[in-house]
Amino acid sequence: MKPQPAPSKISLAELSRHSDTMLRKGDSDHFNWASDGSVPTLAQLTEALFFSPGDGRIWLNDQRMLLVHSAAMGHLRRELIDTLGMARARGLLTRAGYVSGARDAQLVRQRWPEGDAAAVFMAGARLHALEGVVKVTPVSFSFDIDRGTYDGEFIWEHSSEDDEHISAYGLGADPACWSQVGYATGYVTTLFGQQVIFRELDCRAMGASACRVVGRNAAAWGDISEDLRYLEAHDFRAMAPGAEPAAAAPPPALGPAGSATQDRHEVVGASPAFVSACHLLDRVARTSATVLFSGESGVGKEAFARRLHRISPRAERPFVALNCAAIPEGLLESELFGVEKGAYTGAHASREGRFERAHGGTLFLDEVGTLSAVAQAKLLRVLQEGELERVGGSRLIQVDVRVAAATNVDLRAEVQAGRFRADLFYRLNVFPLHLPPLRERREDIPLLMSHFLRRESQRHGREVSGFSARAVRAALHYDWPGNIRELLNLIERAVINVEDGMAIDVHHMFRGEPLARQAVLAVSSDGELAREADPGVDNLLQHLQSTLGAAALDLPALEARLLAEAVQAHDGNLSAAARALGLSRAQLAYRLERHVAG
Ligand SMILES: [Zn+2]
Repeated sequence: MKPQPAPSKISLAELSRHSDTMLRKGDSDHFNWASDGSVPTLAQLTEALFFSPGDGRIWLNDQRMLLVHSAAMGHLRRELIDTLGMARARGLLTRAGYVSGARDAQLVRQRWPEGDAAAVFMAGARLHALEGVVKVTPVSFSFDIDRGTYDGEFIWEHSSEDDEHISAYGLGADPACWSQVGYATGYVTTLFGQQVIFRELDCRAMGASACRVVGRNAAAWGDISEDLRYLEAHDFRAMAPGAEPAAAAPPPALGPAGSATQDRHEVVGASPAFVSACHLLDRVARTSATVLFSGESGVGKEAFARRLHRISPRAERPFVALNCAAIPEGLLESELFGVEKGAYTGAHASREGRFERAHGGTLFLDEVGTLSAVAQAKLLRVLQEGELERVGGSRLIQVDVRVAAATNVDLRAEVQAGRFRADLFYRLNVFPLHLPPLRERREDIPLLMSHFLRRESQRHGREVSGFSARAVRAALHYDWPGNIRELLNLIERAVINVEDGMAIDVHHMFRGEPLARQAVLAVSSDGELAREADPGVDNLLQHLQSTLGAAALDLPALEARLLAEAVQAHDGNLSAAARALGLSRAQLAYRLERHVAG
């Protein structure tokens, strides 16, 4: 297809006339029709949906879908509202929508990794329409991947959620397209890797002729605490049924020391795995039962334990944490149970242990599998009798402590190997709670990235505009062996590395980490670098960089050379060169221009 000349400016009228096409890039000189076969097209998205009636399944690419009666969803919605109250039902539906949007974004990202940026953004709207939810027409739409900004306004027609809401409740003062707003938020946030918040400003349920939604970066909205309340499960769970969001506990006041620690241990997520863990946690928090957290290193076991304490009736009493593996074995007992003066050389004064300090509150014992046999016996006794003796003492001290323990080894196997007491294991395992590794809740990666970015840039006094699309892509594909802790560390590293006002790119975050799935170059038998798979120049450069080390490469020069050689090898045919590089023609042109300009 012959590329059309790029108009420098575009009117909204033109845009709506061509509602099937989209702007490539927003408020810059790079306005461009993306109609030259921009991928994914509506037809391609439609082809991803297929029915398998013989075996009872419907697929959207590799995701199983359902064809559900809108009236049945309306019924479910009404029951949710009647049982839980408007605010909680809204939270549930918003989060369900978020998951759906995040899934669609993953699908588009996986199936069309080379997709044109604007078309990829609009694919969410098209899928939402394809799924029969709502018809989306863009009013204005701009984004800048390099700076990490997003601003879009859309008209929603035929909202299925409004149909059901209006038929049950009539018109009211508030918007009703909750799960649809959740979908838009989940789709764009997952694609963009930065928290984009959608709000419904007009809604048919408020008497408007169509719904109008606006999506912007979290930063551009200002105060988004209300939006987050519907998006983040935990703010809702502490609420009584029927309570309005304003009745939830206020967030901790911003201040020095204390709030930072609190925030550092906040749990964030909306994925099904995460939400179900939160649900279990909330259930057990009301009791004093011992909780045993299991899961890989870095999944946030301490954060969950702190949350357990915070939402429990013990919240006003101390939370004390101890990593059993970090204390030398000889000191662990006195650390846990306290010591009487003269118990051993150097014990000049009596001192209370962590158990006594946690009296009335919660004691978190991390890596409990490393406790010595003696410490295990004493711990069992505290759990059973609620009393302990300090080291070198004979006085019985009563304590009322809820124990939350954590382990990243299989304690059952430790029992079988004779290294851990069976009776203690059963005592600890009253309420087991497994926390999933980050790679099993990938939907949460963008949420966590935005959360950590906000926090770390504030902490380090940096102004960072967001994440580049390829940084998000790398993060979504990376396996995260160190889980959330690793993600936090890489974002802190990136916040320090990135220049002020810029977006975080792959090389700011990843240095030696193996981005295995992005390896795209291999040396062929005749010694030439050859493309192995496709993901494009960025990944290729990233691969070279992580293999050879950042210092060894002048990346811009290397990229310029690669592009020039590809164009030359295809006799100046940009489309062919772009295909060979795994880029769209427009992407190649943009890059070439950048190198000429630079
Ligand atoms: Zn609406």
